[in-house]
Amino acid sequence: MDGKGEFVGTKICVKCGKEKDSTAFGKNKNLKDGLRSQCKACRSQEYQNGKEKIKEYWKEYRKKNKDKIKEYNEKYHKENLDKLRKNSRKIYKRDKQKISDYNKKRRLENGDEIRKRDNERYHKNHDHCLAVAREYREKNQETIKVKAKIYREKNKDRFSSLRKEYYDEHREELLTKQAEFRKENKEELNRRGRENYQKNKEKLKQSAKAYRKKNLEHVKAKAKEYRQSKAYQDYRERSKDQRAKKSKEYQIKNVERFREKAKEYYDKNKVEIRQKEKNNRDNLTDVYVRGNISRYSGIPLQQIPQDIIDLRRIIMMIKREIKTRRTA
Ligand SMILES: [Zn+2]
Repeated sequence: MDGKGEFVGTKICVKCGKEKDSTAFGKNKNLKDGLRSQCKACRSQEYQNGKEKIKEYWKEYRKKNKDKIKEYNEKYHKENLDKLRKNSRKIYKRDKQKISDYNKKRRLENGDEIRKRDNERYHKNHDHCLAVAREYREKNQETIKVKAKIYREKNKDRFSSLRKEYYDEHREELLTKQAEFRKENKEELNRRGRENYQKNKEKLKQSAKAYRKKNLEHVKAKAKEYRQSKAYQDYRERSKDQRAKKSKEYQIKNVERFREKAKEYYDKNKVEIRQKEKNNRDNLTDVYVRGNISRYSGIPLQQIPQDIIDLRRIIMMIKREIKTRRTA
């Protein structure tokens, strides 16, 4: 015995029969020498054996009750779906980064295998997957819209460069296809366009008006740029006869309406129109003189050179002067 009344020396283990130092035994105050009868190594071994036995028992149990367990699991899963979902969502939220990193790593390492398995799983549960996806979409319409918008915004540059890249690569092909499609479906497309226009007439007018108002300078500049472009000149030259014909046809067809409209407009804006006409006559602006030349010469507005305009202005001034003197 030492000072604290504890046994010091050696003792024989009842399990392995080996003589060991007292420190190799655990304590048990109920025994005479205050030490366990089995040494620590034997007790540990026994504990391990026990664990193995338990493991084996459950393994055997699972094997024997496979169907029962499966049935139970399925039932549990069904009955606690909400709880399980909530739980997994909670875990996902908590460990988002960790999970995403893990999945990334896994995909890098076993990408092909995972894809194959996902594919198989998807095909096996095709209808179910579709139904789940549909249900999700219906339930989360607004969220999806918002998320999609954010996603598009975030990847705007990438998408537009991808689109552009694709377009550049397939330009000829795409244009041919488009032209073919338009040709084949001309009637239908025209009909649809008209229908669409009629349906949204007010809205379209309003939005065009609003756009013009908001971007007036830009719109004006663009229009001017277009009017001065070679493409526009070519178009006017090319379509001269057809436009004249169409315009005449249109005027004849709508002559009454035009008259009415013009009269209506004139009555409504009489004072301003008279003032404007007087101003124009007094001012002899380039536009006014140009219109005057074009009317009696037949030369298109754009093709009248500046020096002719200046000359014409002088003639007009002389005529006006003569007229005033006559009436005076
Ligand atoms: Zn022992």
